[in-house]
Amino acid sequence: MAGEVRGLYIGGRWTVPSDRAHFTTRNPANGETVGEFVSGTPADVDAAIGAAQKAFPAWRDTPAPKRGELLLEVARILRGRKEALGRTVTREMGKVIAEGRGDVQESIDFVEYMAGEGRRLFGETVPSELHSKLCLTFREAKGVVACITPWNFPMAIPNWKIAAALVCGNSVVFKPASNTAQCATEVVAAYEEAGLPPGVLNLVTGAGGTVGNPLIEDPRVRTVSFTGGVETGREVYVRGAKGLKMVHLELGGKNPEIILDDANLDLALEGALFGAFGTSGQRCTATSRLVVQAGVYDEVLGRLKERLAKFRIGDPLEASTDMGPVASADQEAKVLGYVEAGKKDGERLLVGGSKLSGGAYDRGHYVAPTLFEARREGRIAREEIFGPVLALLKVRDLADAIRVANDVDYGLSSAIYTRDVNHAFEAVRALETGIVYVNAPTIGAEVQLPFGGVKNTGNGGREAGSAAVEEFTETKTVFLDFSNRLQKAQIDPR
Ligand code: NAP
Repeated sequence: MAGEVRGLYIGGRWTVPSDRAHFTTRNPANGETVGEFVSGTPADVDAAIGAAQKAFPAWRDTPAPKRGELLLEVARILRGRKEALGRTVTREMGKVIAEGRGDVQESIDFVEYMAGEGRRLFGETVPSELHSKLCLTFREAKGVVACITPWNFPMAIPNWKIAAALVCGNSVVFKPASNTAQCATEVVAAYEEAGLPPGVLNLVTGAGGTVGNPLIEDPRVRTVSFTGGVETGREVYVRGAKGLKMVHLELGGKNPEIILDDANLDLALEGALFGAFGTSGQRCTATSRLVVQAGVYDEVLGRLKERLAKFRIGDPLEASTDMGPVASADQEAKVLGYVEAGKKDGERLLVGGSKLSGGAYDRGHYVAPTLFEARREGRIAREEIFGPVLALLKVRDLADAIRVANDVDYGLSSAIYTRDVNHAFEAVRALETGIVYVNAPTIGAEVQLPFGGVKNTGNGGREAGSAAVEEFTETKTVFLDFSNRLQKAQIDPR
């Protein structure tokens, strides 16, 4: 890579154009600079798409198992760097080091899973209604795809998109979140080192609109895979729709954990604490609502307060830290803004609700884990805060719990803690989310299963698992007639 400033990666070369502005990323735990990057321009986007388009035919025609082998090499490289990359994740966006390593492990798992897809990419063989006719489908690459990613899983989400797109034979232009540009360059470096041909993967860092808009609008880009906030997603969708593109959206969540009277409370509380305050609440699947049945409500509240009083908040690189900072000054302002709005709206603040200060806290963006006794109709209970804020809601019974759980605009993940198998299955059926956990927290996706949600969480697609192939391929349907005569479907006598 060129010099101190991390370059754009276009056509297999890292470049730092001399006339571009730069931006930096900072460690949210202490304000130190992590890296300096090129602010890409529409001209850079144009060059990156051009490089991807040029590289596409040869990559598409590379046998899929060979593409898979290259991914195995990427996984090997990532595994060899797991500790260093995990630390980079933690330094750049503040999640605790165990989760930083987890972010890298999820990348390794997914890249390996997708490597295997190189030997599957299954089509279908389907019977014909006519004699001597064979009907089958093939999966084909789409062409140049745009991958736009958020900062909260800065290794895993880029790899989810890039590895899936590449094994299917597409070429990629990658626009990462500006907050985690260092992680993005490390991801791309692994693919380069594994021997990916020039132009197959290109990276343009820079501001969302400046880089994102021309990328989405360019007619050479046929598919946009976007993960981020609902408002940005809506804008991306509209822009893509003008070009009749396939736009895959993975957006926010307002995920409930239901605790029924018959739950194992120890387990349910562990799940709630991990779900709500892991990654400082900045996961799309974070538990942001705890929906508790009346019979155990007071006990859950008391025990939560006790546990939160003992929470260790501090340096995310320290193994003993329970929760690190939020990811940026913007995140801090957003979360504290919600707390203030909640208080004004008459929500009952029970724990936290402030910026932590004094000593090392003053150098970073630390927000105390926060607990509200929330009103069902209030913003704290309904909007995605994306920080360490948990809304507690009391319910009468299972039916009431499901009503409350479903009464939001999002539908990504949900959890229910109960020992009653009927209640568990009733909840699985009734909860309006793409993912449901029984006796496990709302976070904890595994890469071999489809991931995504309903309502405003997206536009119906799924990532990961076998669904990843759907996102990045076209289906070609083929009819082979070996009857040696004209046969007419639907018209020939039956
Ligand atoms: P964001 O602000 O929407 O940004 C996401 C990405 O979009 C970033 O790369 C951003 O670039 C880019 N962007 C911004 N404006 C754009 C535009 N006009 N056109 C194209 N791209 C644009 O979201 P975030 O704050 O990074 O991430 C948090 C959100 O992501 C939360 O809502 C969370 O729930 C969601 N999320 C969803 C999933 C899921 O799978 N459902 C997973 C993780 C996160 P810049 O960084 O340069 O602004």
